[in-house]
This record gives sequence, structure tokens and C-alpha cells, in this order.
Amino acid sequence: VLPIVAVVGRPNVGKSTLVNRIIGRREAVVEDVPGVTRDRVSYKANWNGREFTVVDTGGWLPDSRGLAAAIAEQAKLAVELADVVLFVVDANVGATDIDEAVVEILRRAKKPVVLAANKADDTRTELEATALWSLGVGEPMPVSALHGRSSGDLLDRVLESL
Ligand code: GDP
Ligand code: MG
Repeated sequence: VLPIVAVVGRPNVGKSTLVNRIIGRREAVVEDVPGVTRDRVSYKANWNGREFTVVDTGGWLPDSRGLAAAIAEQAKLAVELADVVLFVVDANVGATDIDEAVVEILRRAKKPVVLAANKADDTRTELEATALWSLGVGEPMPVSALHGRSSGDLLDRVLESL
């Protein structure tokens, strides 16, 4: 059984784009419109000769308790089956209430967390990403899933946490 890396975070932060970057293919569905329902999907990946399963998550539909609760519920399921959680936030937006709600779940799960500050397409955003230390889940790793910037460093960190 391969170790499982679960990719969680609120809609539109670039989780599926990052999954595609990690697997080196374009299989995860990238959505320009957030909130489209998708099931959790797993892919086999490897980095530096180590194999693992990466689980994309999404399909956050607001239910009667609101969007944050629906995301939290999905994150809970993904985190339960994960060996490492790859928590993705948008470096341009910074920490939102929904990001904070996900952090609460990660805290309770006591699983290793790697924080990806995605959409750090340039040096300026890379520097701004340091503000995400405030989430309290460790060092924000600036990355651009779209351009591949620093994605190798991120994967090194993920595998160190396995
Ligand atoms: P998800 O909902 O978290 O799975 O996000 P998606 O992977 O579907 O991406 C949402 C949008 O963000 C798409 O338009 C992506 O092209 C865009 N996106 C993803 N990663 C990056 C990035 O590193 N930089 C920029 N500028 N846009 C990105
Ligand atoms: Mg997605």
C-alpha cells in the first residue's frame, strides 16, 4: 500500500492544478468556476523514486450550514485517510475564514501538514506568502502550480513528512 498525500483547501486555490503538476499529467479537472461538484480522485505519483498516492479533493458545495462547513466536512474525510496533508492556500489572497476552518480540522487530526502558498507566480508574492505563518501550521512553501515554480521543493518537503 502506497502512502497517501491528500490535497485539501478551499475552492479555486489551485489544488487540481497542483495535483496535475505532481503527477506530471493533466488528469485532475481544473475549474475556472469554483464550486463544481467532483468526487475525491486518487492518482499514483512518484518523486525521486518514491511512489505515493495523491488524492485531489473538491466538490465543495455549500449545504444548509454554509460553504465553510461543507468544506470542513470534506476536508475531514480526506484527512482521515491521509498520511500527509498538503494544505493549499492562495498566496495572493492570504488566510481566509475558510482556511482557518480547515486549520481547525488539521489540528484535531494530528497528521503532518505541508502548507503550500500557491499562486506565488513571482518574487513579490513569494515574499507575501510569509504572512501565512499566521495560520499556525508551519512554514508556508511558496509555489506556483501553474508555472511549476518551486514545486520540486514542495514535493521534497512532502516526502520528508511521510
Ligand atoms: P481548485 O478548485 O483548488 O482545484 O483549483 P483549480 O486547480 O481548479 O484552479 C483554479 C484556478 O486557479 C484556475 O483558473 C487555475 O488555472 C488557477 N491557478 C492554479 N494554480 C495557479 C498558480 O500557481 N498561479 C496562478 N496565477 N493561477 C493558478
Ligand atoms: Mg479542483
